[in-house]
Amino acid sequence: MDSFSNAMTQLETAAKAGGIPPEELSFLREPKRTIEVNYPVRMDDGKIKHFKGYRIQYNDVRGPAKGGIRFHPKVDLAEVKALSFWMTIKNAVIGIPYGGGKGGVAINPKQHSRAELERVSRGFIKAIHELIGPTKDIPAPDVYTDQQVMAWMLDEYEAITGEHLPGTITGKPISLGGSQGRAYSTAMGGAYVLKEAAELLDIDPLKATVAVQGFGNAGMHMARILSRWGYKVIAISDSTTGIYQEKGIDIERAAKHKQEKGTLRGLGGKEITNEELLTLKADILIPAALENQITKTNAKDIKATAIVELANGPTTPEADAILARNGITLIPDVLANAGGVAVSYFEWVQNNQGYYWEEQEVLDKLEQVMTRGFKDVHALVKELDVTYREAAYILAARRLMDAAAARGAR
Ligand code: GLU
Repeated sequence: MDSFSNAMTQLETAAKAGGIPPEELSFLREPKRTIEVNYPVRMDDGKIKHFKGYRIQYNDVRGPAKGGIRFHPKVDLAEVKALSFWMTIKNAVIGIPYGGGKGGVAINPKQHSRAELERVSRGFIKAIHELIGPTKDIPAPDVYTDQQVMAWMLDEYEAITGEHLPGTITGKPISLGGSQGRAYSTAMGGAYVLKEAAELLDIDPLKATVAVQGFGNAGMHMARILSRWGYKVIAISDSTTGIYQEKGIDIERAAKHKQEKGTLRGLGGKEITNEELLTLKADILIPAALENQITKTNAKDIKATAIVELANGPTTPEADAILARNGITLIPDVLANAGGVAVSYFEWVQNNQGYYWEEQEVLDKLEQVMTRGFKDVHALVKELDVTYREAAYILAARRLMDAAAARGAR
């Protein structure tokens, strides 16, 4: 099953659990606008190579489209469609005034020089610039794109339009109007949500163990924050290997090792596979890599008490059912990883006002948004006796249905 079919199954399951008639949701089953481009980029050797890029503005009844741009060899239309749908749900769950969008370029960034990546980034904006902007669609980073990529993209956009419009792209460097705290906000938001869940589940941070799959922006910062909070992070992984250390991993050391060597290999401890990491005996499991990692094959072997999805779409619907049956609490992506887009929203607000906030102000507002999101979802979990994913979808669907109805679009 592709990710979009999985996403639609999640929507149907939630609608059923929440008593929403399926026909009420037909406006959420197809994207509003799909942009597919094929554009030329000059490689360092002088030859031209064409790249395929996508941007999907899935829904905009609640505000402009919003979501990241991913650089990954496996990017395709179905994946971007799923990711843009999840952004629509996510922005509604935390109640920020955005619709949902997502973009991607099919490329393996590890096989390109910085100069080539700059031209790939600029070329993509050149190809889609008419359709983005602070009131239309606002891109941000995602898998294998970072502040520097956002800086190139914004610079290209401003060069084309001849205006300073920093609110066109979020996740920028601070020097170009980025927000304090944005660099680690996805993880920080996840940590705030975990704090709420841990209290309900009687998980003591000073005694609990954690396994984190993925050591990119989300996973690395999450491992760092949680170990500072007293949690014992016993396993981490990247695309090359997993590392297990029973006594707990020194995350600062791991981050330094990864930065210097480009891999976690050789860090010390037992080297394990990504698959083994998922089924380790750890109290909290944090998938922070790619889609479809927790599946019907491994879900039954998962021993965690709680799963906090920092990745988008890491769990398939079949796995969801198994986890629920086994009493495992899963805090879904559309809530758990919403801290990234929450601070993107703050960044956009600051850009539009031309007035910038201190880091503590950003963090306080982030905690407020995430805690409120968690409480809203939790209230529905209790009221309707549904899973956290179902509750989040029901909450989002209601908000989206209201906005669509008010516009006469439903
Ligand atoms: N790519 C991130 C996500 O999946 C952030 C999106 C944004 O900041 O717009 O939520």
